[in-house]
Amino acid sequence: MGRYIVVTKAFLDFMLNIKFCLVTNVLWLFVLRFIVDCMLGKLTRWLRILGHDVSYYRIADDRKLIDLAESEKRILLTCDIELYQQAITQGFEADIIEAPDIDGKLAALAKRFDFKLEVDLNISRCPKCNVNLVAVSKEEIIDVIPKATSTNYSDFWRCLGCGQKYWQGAHWKRIRLTLNSAKRRLLLL
Ligand SMILES: [Zn+2]
Repeated sequence: MGRYIVVTKAFLDFMLNIKFCLVTNVLWLFVLRFIVDCMLGKLTRWLRILGHDVSYYRIADDRKLIDLAESEKRILLTCDIELYQQAITQGFEADIIEAPDIDGKLAALAKRFDFKLEVDLNISRCPKCNVNLVAVSKEEIIDVIPKATSTNYSDFWRCLGCGQKYWQGAHWKRIRLTLNSAKRRLLLL
């Protein structure tokens, strides 16, 4: 009997793993892949939170960015008009980022690439390292989060890359305000 239970649990773990891979791969089909210039670090973090796959290099010259856009099949986002024209001239998909604030940037990109200005942490990518997040139980991370956090919140996620923990804490209000503002800007475009 004991052996039967062990085999069943292993089988369930196996199936859950397959399900996770399938969901991840299906979502990947709808994920936009960007590469951004070094001036767009804040936008990078926002796009990753929204679930997009964004490459960001603190130091990369124009040639490297265009080469990576080509080899990794990524859309180039830049606020450098020369780099933008260079990419377009060479036949690469690119967009020039003109809005000075993050609300305007997100609204313009949501219009151009038709994505939702909503955050679902189940499809978000880690703003720090661009790897997918996975939901974890409170018990799994209770030793490494502040006590007040474990008391006040019940839903948690962990980055599969760097291990950073996430929850919808007090900062979530600011995220909602920014996204609501971006949605209003989008209606005017
Ligand atoms: Zn990470």
